[in-house]
Amino acid sequence: MTATIAYDRPVSNFIDKLSATGHVTHKSYKKTSVTLHHNAGRMSHQGMLDVWKTRPASAHFDVDAAGRVAQYVKVNEYAWAVGNVAGNQRSISIEMANATLAPGWTVAEVTWKSAARLAGWHFAKVIGERPSKSNLFYHHHWSSTECAGPHMEKIYDKVLAAAQEAYDHFRDSHPVTGHSKFEPFPGASFFHTGRKSPIIAAMHHRLVAEDCNRYQSSANADVWGPGDVKSYAAYQRKLGFKGDDANGVPGKTSWDKLRVPNV
Ligand SMILES: [Zn+2]
Repeated sequence: MTATIAYDRPVSNFIDKLSATGHVTHKSYKKTSVTLHHNAGRMSHQGMLDVWKTRPASAHFDVDAAGRVAQYVKVNEYAWAVGNVAGNQRSISIEMANATLAPGWTVAEVTWKSAARLAGWHFAKVIGERPSKSNLFYHHHWSSTECAGPHMEKIYDKVLAAAQEAYDHFRDSHPVTGHSKFEPFPGASFFHTGRKSPIIAAMHHRLVAEDCNRYQSSANADVWGPGDVKSYAAYQRKLGFKGDDANGVPGKTSWDKLRVPNV
């Protein structure tokens, strides 16, 4: 069974069931934003899957009326979610259950706060940027739709603030460990504390913004992240490092060679 993300709260796993619908493109992309949706209904996790069995659509996650999280599509893959090719390649889509239907389309606080927290986790662990108005979107950012509805529209600033708070928490916390294929290497926490050290910030910038990204899909198509061991090991080998210097962990050689002064 395909593993879910290693989140610190339960994540129901619908990945293989969604894959069986064929409404997902199994191709990996670097993710640069999160897009929130409302599902125009008081859907359960199973209810979303049932919809996607007939409708040619999908999203990476759904948060139900009680704030519980389910995953349907691997984070780095292409969900059929936003009605825009670049958006589907680059964005992680999170559906939210409505609390009331038309015309208000409200979303319960427990639901949108859970979605914002999940978004913050992805900004910290996958995207590597703090949430802002230029990377936390509603569906209508990408295509002509009312989604995520008038209620979410009114509270965007609160949603963004909650995502930022979660990002700050996860960025500073220890790397997530668990059974998922998303396994940050032992030094991964350094990579999420860029603002604390110019050297670390430089390493982060260099690895993430430059070559390391190019290796992620070939080295390990299942995961993407600045803390991805296989990607980083591939990057080290490319630099000519051997043995323990190319084990996917930023050891002394990596630190010395990759140091970028005055950044
Ligand atoms: Zn939508």
